[in-house]
Amino acid sequence: VSRPAPSRRAILYDIDGVLTISWSALPGAAETVDLMRKAGWPTAFVTNTSSMSRRVIAARLLDAGIRAEVEEIFTAPRAAVIYMSEHHPGARCLLLNSGSLGEDLEGLDLVEDEADVVLTGGAGPEIGYDILNRAFRCLLGGAALVAMHRNSTWTTAAGPQLDMGPFVRALETATGVRAKLVGKPAPEFYCSIVEHLGVELSEAVMIGDDIESDVLGAQALGMRGILVRTGKFRPDVLTGASAEPDDVIDSIAGLAELLRVGHDR
Ligand SMILES: [Mg+2]
Repeated sequence: VSRPAPSRRAILYDIDGVLTISWSALPGAAETVDLMRKAGWPTAFVTNTSSMSRRVIAARLLDAGIRAEVEEIFTAPRAAVIYMSEHHPGARCLLLNSGSLGEDLEGLDLVEDEADVVLTGGAGPEIGYDILNRAFRCLLGGAALVAMHRNSTWTTAAGPQLDMGPFVRALETATGVRAKLVGKPAPEFYCSIVEHLGVELSEAVMIGDDIESDVLGAQALGMRGILVRTGKFRPDVLTGASAEPDDVIDSIAGLAELLRVGHDR
């Protein structure tokens, strides 16, 4: 049995609330991402964001001063397309989502009704009774339910916003069909990213502002989980959580010091 060199590590960043808020960089984010790269850590950006394509996310990050290649960005919509190609090839798909995913949905056969799969993304003004009722009827007719994520809320500069999770639960309750989750914290999502980075789960570090989905979800697989006190963090999440994070730091600016990564090492 060969043991991996201790220097072999990889870093997975949640984006919103960790690196940026409303696409403005948090202090230290750009510098930390650069420093970790220079120290040789393979990098992934992992997000349940379903309102824009990976190409647009990379551009937004660059605008915020954070360098990210499209190939380094792993999104719930991308995970959904991969899942659909593997488990529902050729399926007619009713998409419930707010925003524009562009080329990231390539390969899906999108229909307005009589779908084989109901695929949910993020909520927005488009998610009204009409499309929910069409989804309900497809599910009653035997369609599968695939959820990019089950988030209840997200936060913008305007404050908290109602997300798709409660609508997914409504469809489950009404039909008895259980959704297959493909974004964070699905184990398959984390495992495929870590495999892509070329390290073992125990060598991967995930940093996020969502204690359950980012931090504990990663820790359950053997990764190191780091919670930041920015973004959606509230002090009471620590007492109400199902387990403890490996580490809690004030912000992304403290990451390199926590991991003992610096120019001189
Ligand atoms: Mg976040």
